[in-house]
Amino acid sequence: MKLTCFVSIAFQLIAIGLCRGQHCKTDAKSVVTSAEMRASIQADPAKKLVALQQLIPGLVVDMRYATINNFTHTVLYHHPVALLRTAPANGLRLVQEDLRKKGYALKLFDAFRPLSATCTIWRLVPDRHYAANPRKGSNHNRCLAVDVTLIDLRTGRELDMGTAFDNFTDSAHHDFYTLPAQVLTNRRLLKQTMRKYGFGMVPTEWWHYQWHNDRDYEVIDLDFDELKYFY
Ligand SMILES: [Zn+2]
Repeated sequence: MKLTCFVSIAFQLIAIGLCRGQHCKTDAKSVVTSAEMRASIQADPAKKLVALQQLIPGLVVDMRYATINNFTHTVLYHHPVALLRTAPANGLRLVQEDLRKKGYALKLFDAFRPLSATCTIWRLVPDRHYAANPRKGSNHNRCLAVDVTLIDLRTGRELDMGTAFDNFTDSAHHDFYTLPAQVLTNRRLLKQTMRKYGFGMVPTEWWHYQWHNDRDYEVIDLDFDELKYFY
């Protein structure tokens, strides 16, 4: 094993160890307990969670952070279900219906992500252009965001988006145009369809789309096993 590789792995293990058992350095009041989550949903049923595979026919799910096939080369959470709040979940269902009429479909890399996973990512990539600062929590932590790409329904293969998921370079930006025309067309199709049904984007990641936090949706750091009571 090369020294640089060993150092990288050691750094990641230390980072993960530092994150476990604490809410990173975030505003603890903004992170809901299971009881608070139950009360919040009772008061506002729109905050209920929805399991996307049950709602959206043909949705392909490849939750990268539940595997080592992600930029951290580490499993950041176990036994995931692709979860969103009610409004973005219904929006994503409409996106899928629209795409399928054109011969395409969504492939999902991530949806809800516990705050502890965001903490680990922040320690590895402490750059607000590419990762959410756990002090504020992210829209993934609020069940409002997805990381997605497109597949061709005829082949089942991903469309060429110019970079892989979680590519932290300029070439993943929406305003990076030095790319083949087909890549720009593919990115435009994803962007236009997501925006048509209410999702916003961030300038630096072609795969990330999020719903407006219009109901003061809380940051969640519960395990997927605990969340099954809320969808
Ligand atoms: Zn994202």
